[in-house]
Amino acid sequence: MARILWLRRDLRIHDNPALVEAALGAAADGDNIVVPLVIIDPILWAEFGPVRQNYLVASLKSLDESFGGNLLIQHGDPSEVVPRVAAAANAVAVHVSTQYTPYAMKRDARVAELLAEAQREMIHTGSGYAVAPGRITKDDGSAYKVYTPFYKNWMKHGWRSPAQDPEVWPTWTMPIECDGLPEPLPLEGMSLPPAGEQAALDRWAWFKENALDLYGEQRNDPGVDGTSKLSVALKWGEIHPRTLLAELGDLPGHEVFRKEIAWREFYADVLYNRLDTINDYFNPLYEEMQYDTGVEADKSFEAWTKGMTGYPIVDAAMRQLRAEGWMHNRTRMVVASFLVKDLHIEWKRGADFFETWLLDFDAASNSHGWQWTAGCGTDASPYYRVFNPTAQGQRFDSNGDYIRKYIPELRHLVGAEIHEPWTVLGGLDHGYPAPIVDHATERLESLARLSALPKGAQKPLPPIHD
Ligand SMILES: Cc1cc2nc3c(=O)[nH]c(=O)nc-3n(C[C@H](O)[C@H](O)[C@H](O)COP(=O)(O)OP(=O)(O)OC[C@H]3O[C@@H](n4cnc5c(N)ncnc54)[C@H](O)[C@@H]3O)c2cc1C
Repeated sequence: MARILWLRRDLRIHDNPALVEAALGAAADGDNIVVPLVIIDPILWAEFGPVRQNYLVASLKSLDESFGGNLLIQHGDPSEVVPRVAAAANAVAVHVSTQYTPYAMKRDARVAELLAEAQREMIHTGSGYAVAPGRITKDDGSAYKVYTPFYKNWMKHGWRSPAQDPEVWPTWTMPIECDGLPEPLPLEGMSLPPAGEQAALDRWAWFKENALDLYGEQRNDPGVDGTSKLSVALKWGEIHPRTLLAELGDLPGHEVFRKEIAWREFYADVLYNRLDTINDYFNPLYEEMQYDTGVEADKSFEAWTKGMTGYPIVDAAMRQLRAEGWMHNRTRMVVASFLVKDLHIEWKRGADFFETWLLDFDAASNSHGWQWTAGCGTDASPYYRVFNPTAQGQRFDSNGDYIRKYIPELRHLVGAEIHEPWTVLGGLDHGYPAPIVDHATERLESLARLSALPKGAQKPLPPIHD
């Protein structure tokens, strides 16, 4: 007899409630045997693209080491693989941590059904969140649409302490031959961060020691290594948010960090309650916004994707994304605003591009981060609030360190000059382009398009998330 531990977005062995549950069950069975299983689902694998494929392979190597080389990797459709592995292992149960995207929920329901036909159980324990989506509700049981009351109730609700490692570790077993790691598409010109649970714990230790106390002051400066950069590890479940929350105190920096973790939980909750918003408008009034398409729009979009718009903070950020598979939160907001309100291109196109390049791509945070900027999401930044890309650079990268790091053509400029290179003698001498649009003009155009929307879409909400 054995148990299967099917790992998906929980690629770690510590603070892993599903693993603990599998270990307890296996000990009670008497055999103490658990099969740690990872499935390379061809549908998801193709969606990962080269960036996340390469990261995942590195993470799985590390996970395999944690299981003493006994991680069973199978390639195929989970609804075929799980029942087959369960039968081969004579498993009584398959243990998982719950996932909440539409695809994952449908897949898991189907697998559970097939397992049940063979008298096997699918046991869900825990999730990738401190509080599972759907659990924090208003008094009348309905879902929150605004962050601050969600946050207050989330704090009141609280969360469990990190799961303790099992008292006795099971024997990790591979009942059938491992398919081996998948072959990722080649990555050109990118350097990815170290992957795996230990790398995440190391980064957390570094962040606690060096940046957490100052997080409130530094988190908006893209040129400073002042945020945790744990979004990637959280995405893959190499670390659990509870591990982080358990070590936070009451200092202001800790408080702000807790609030950011809560944004991740809020967006997961919003998506859970409105599955359509995975790629559709939260506020349907904005569906009628006039966006540009066609050859000219395609050219603008390409300039944006390549970091060649002529606005240094926008271009530095897009180049950071393509060099590292990650972008600072401040500049995610700046580039998103620029695409939607200066280039008048629909947010969905930007969200898709982020999906291709982000190591931390998360369906809920990405869709709702974009919708926040485009004015059509929960707590949305009012559409009429258009980020000025030059002023954003001057304010959040005042000495230009971030820009110089990613734009070699501007390294000859010092300090304040760098934010408006077109105004500096010789500023564009090294191949950096002049601005492709005039921000002041496009801002007015954007506001004109807003005023053409149905009444109600223009209702301002307080900007609470910048
Ligand atoms: C247009 C846009 C798209 C985004 N797409 C994603 C995405 O696909 N995946 C993703 O994880 N985050 C996304 N974010 C949110 C945010 O930018 C990143 O979580 C953050 O930059 C990650 O860096 P960090 O780990 O250093 O964050 P820290 O500042 O260290 O924050 C700690 C953690 O809190 C969470 N967090 C912080 N800010 C946010 C936020 N605004 N929304 C949700 N969670 C947050 C993340 O899990 C993060 O790791 C997006 C934001 C915008 C504006």
